Amino acid sequence: MARLSRREFLQWTTGGLAAAALSDWIFFKKALEAQSEEGPKLFYHACHICDCTCGMIYQVKNGRIVEMRGNPADKLGAAGKLCVKGYSTPRLYHDPCRLSHPLRRTNPRKGRDEDPAWKIITWDEAFALVGEQFRRVYDRHGPDAILLFARARPWDSHLQYAIGTPNQLCHVDTCYINHEIAGKAVSGDRIWGWDFSHAKYIVGFGYDQVGKSKNIHQREFMEARRNGAKIVIFDPRLSETAQKADLWIPIRPGTDLAALLAMIHVILNEGLYDKDFVEKYTVGLDKLKPHVAKYTPQWAQKICDVPAQTLVQIAREFGSTKPATLAYHKRDAGGPVFMNSFQTAHAMVILQALVGSLDRPGGLYFSRTPKVPSIKDVYKLSYPDIEGKPRFDDPENITPLAFKAKKAGFSTAADAILNDSKPRVALFHSYNTTSFSNPQRFEQALKKLNFIVNVDMYLTELGMYADVILPENLWIENSGFTVRSYQAERPQVLLDEGAPKLRDTKSYGEIVNGILAAMKLYDYAVDPKKLTGAQLAAMGLDKDKLRQAGGVFDSGEPFKPTEQFKTPSGKVELYSTVLEKAGHAPMPEWVEPASKPTPEYPYYIVTHHLPWMRMLKNANDPILKDLQCENKAHIHPSVATKLGVKDKDFVWLESPVGRIKLKVAVTEGIRPDTIMTEHGFGIWAKGRCQGFGWGQNEGEILPDRTLAEMKQWKRHAAGRGVGICDTTVRITKA
Ligand code: SF4
Repeated sequence: MARLSRREFLQWTTGGLAAAALSDWIFFKKALEAQSEEGPKLFYHACHICDCTCGMIYQVKNGRIVEMRGNPADKLGAAGKLCVKGYSTPRLYHDPCRLSHPLRRTNPRKGRDEDPAWKIITWDEAFALVGEQFRRVYDRHGPDAILLFARARPWDSHLQYAIGTPNQLCHVDTCYINHEIAGKAVSGDRIWGWDFSHAKYIVGFGYDQVGKSKNIHQREFMEARRNGAKIVIFDPRLSETAQKADLWIPIRPGTDLAALLAMIHVILNEGLYDKDFVEKYTVGLDKLKPHVAKYTPQWAQKICDVPAQTLVQIAREFGSTKPATLAYHKRDAGGPVFMNSFQTAHAMVILQALVGSLDRPGGLYFSRTPKVPSIKDVYKLSYPDIEGKPRFDDPENITPLAFKAKKAGFSTAADAILNDSKPRVALFHSYNTTSFSNPQRFEQALKKLNFIVNVDMYLTELGMYADVILPENLWIENSGFTVRSYQAERPQVLLDEGAPKLRDTKSYGEIVNGILAAMKLYDYAVDPKKLTGAQLAAMGLDKDKLRQAGGVFDSGEPFKPTEQFKTPSGKVELYSTVLEKAGHAPMPEWVEPASKPTPEYPYYIVTHHLPWMRMLKNANDPILKDLQCENKAHIHPSVATKLGVKDKDFVWLESPVGRIKLKVAVTEGIRPDTIMTEHGFGIWAKGRCQGFGWGQNEGEILPDRTLAEMKQWKRHAAGRGVGICDTTVRITKA
């Protein structure tokens, strides 16, 4: 297969608009001509590869998806274009490596070198086996002996509440929980929209959603560029977003909080904050001002390695340009990876409020989503009360806000299981061992569990430790609807019309209800098919209306800025009473990182997602893999000279936790004290034959965290997964 160069690829995906418009027109013309009397061949769906949930239109012919495009009616999402990951959906759909049947392990020994000796079983046999194992533990040791590793999505939550276990574990404490907790504590809501196109000044700290190829972020960011906004990106490496900025500031990893505190210091000291907004909509300025007095630009310079004068200049420009906004989301400097990351996310919300851009045009805003009745409401269920039941991984309730959000647990999961005395079983829904830092330790923990069920589309590394594997539909095989939450400046609903199912797989709703029936929890084993109609009806919609509207219901409601914030005071709390009550610092304060470079481990390590990879979701795509089949150690030329290595030579990266061997890529676009590598590689299970054996998982050199550490760091660990990337490494020629 001919390889595209990276430049050609980016041109292909982001440029060529005229050619794309022409091909769109040809596609729709051909597709419309292909409509037959037997029924429509064009289907609508939202892409579920990432949270942009871009609207798609696709055509099925003779059992194959033959065309796929972004839905032009989805104006706030795809706007007629998908990213390269979305366009890979037909290949995912037809991927022969996707699981076809339930599997049962016949070799009880578990480990990377063990063959599970899978046996194909029927769904009835699979449900009976899971039901028997789960019910036995439920009866003997209580519902809390069942661990659910799953996101807090509707059917996942139904399974959790029907069983009555408090032990639901989610990956978000190693992803974006800080932004969610800080946003809710300080402003009362989740900040999930980015109106960059109307901003005049944008500052990001490790923000690289553009480089991750998220449609909505890319479009907003590029519009901001075209509209002449000044863009400043702090990042230890020259990310794709930084390449498109006016100013790249190579800040020392994990020290962004110092720069933010210095900016707040300057803006308050020089009276540059938005006085109208602050007086009308915030409380706590009297406490914040003296609190940040010590965080001068000169103090920050020593910590973050950015000249004080640069910090002063950016703070002045940011405070005096309107509208100005921060760009932040998920795994940036406020993601839960450094010791100071929660306070970084916390400081971001405060700074956003100080410049009057919180839930305002040209700034960041809260999602406006329609009210959808829950599974509990639709089926009129009454669940066992689990409120206040102790969790096995946080018996002292050290991080109450993280678990209340139902988005935590991965950073300490291995520690909790390994130090647990109760026999437990677990279900993993679409999670892999590569979702955990220090997977070697997590795999030891997996061996301790009595029975593991894995629900997934592929046989993954985690699947290799499972006792039963239940194959789930690919999302495009599911029917229903999607409520847009990203960039939802007004309520929107997208129609999901499932493609014909290709394998003996089931939707997750069917799987959950099959398990509940097999556990004899009959009151909760409902018919999932009734849910969509009832929920749509409650919104005054049905599938026909959505179809007639081009697959997207857009309420068209004008954006109304929030006047009353959902905090205890009804205002943005610059001194957070919510955080204080939960035992965390009410205002952001600097603490020393968990570890710093030493003579033995002298380099910082940072990670990055390639624009065509969504974790490992696309890891088995032969075309995407061909763009960059393995991750590399990106190092500064001075480091290469010191080591005597050049591009494509191999090096070892070693931390106190483990080591990985990577090829070198020498670049000026990184700090001399920092090494970067990409996430999403290191597949060792053979269930994804295309991705198998390429690159290494950088998680192998990152630590997990312990319950004792959480206790020690409670004041700054509202988001739990702190300090994972404070790790330092050494590099040697291989
Ligand atoms: S940005 Fe790409 S992956 Fe994400 S929903 Fe849109 S098309 Fe899918």
